[in-house]
Amino acid sequence: MSDTTRLRIAIQKSGRLSDDSISLLKAIGVKLQIRDRLLIAHSTNEPIDLLRVRDDDIPGLVMDGVVDLGFIGENELEEKMLERAAANKPSDFKTLRRLDYGGCRLSIAVPNELDYQGVQSLEGKKVATTYPYLLERFFAEKGVNAQAVMLTGSVEVAPRAGVADAICDLVSTGATLEANGLHEEDVIFSSKAVLIQKSGELSADKQAMINRFLPRIDGVMQAKE
Ligand code: ATP
Ligand code: ZN
Repeated sequence: MSDTTRLRIAIQKSGRLSDDSISLLKAIGVKLQIRDRLLIAHSTNEPIDLLRVRDDDIPGLVMDGVVDLGFIGENELEEKMLERAAANKPSDFKTLRRLDYGGCRLSIAVPNELDYQGVQSLEGKKVATTYPYLLERFFAEKGVNAQAVMLTGSVEVAPRAGVADAICDLVSTGATLEANGLHEEDVIFSSKAVLIQKSGELSADKQAMINRFLPRIDGVMQAKE
């Protein structure tokens, strides 16, 4: 069994949130020795273990109480909440801080040749996405009958491949869209990274450690403003 007295934090192993999450931990004084291939990393100066996983797994690890904290994008968090709600699973957690990195938007993008007059233009069409729950919620709110087609990768090539009429994907600059003959139309969700904590009481020592770190996180973010 693992040592439950150590604070467990889930972070993305390798991807867009990894470096910023590790930099933030280092900036608040957590010394880390990370070996690239390993799932677990230990702090050398605090009773903290990092669990390095795919970002998709982080909301569930926190909500199921497997880890104490997690750094995750709001897009992934919200999608997993909707997915769990559909399966009648609870999504308990606390958001401790909204962070200043991982900014992106989940947007509907369409081929340049498509005559798009708003989301109604997608009536009866297929839209490829990695976020079917967020997209279907958006369609439901707008009263549009369109089909979300789940793709875990290469979403932006789906229209050219004849798999979908449009896409709903994360955008930060729009360069990837442009390279694929697409352009952004509707933003359906704006996202940043957040730090979340599992629900329920932690041990006094763990909670004291978190309470010591939060003002430091605020300080690091203020210094960057
Ligand atoms: P994993 O292998 O961990 O599943 P991934 O391919 O799902 O990785 P990344 O592309 O590394 O994920 O993105 C992780 C998160 O970074 C996104 O869910 C989002 O919150 C954030 N992000 C910030 N900017 C972008 C962007 N331009 N494109 C995609 N994600 C972005
Ligand atoms: Zn992922």
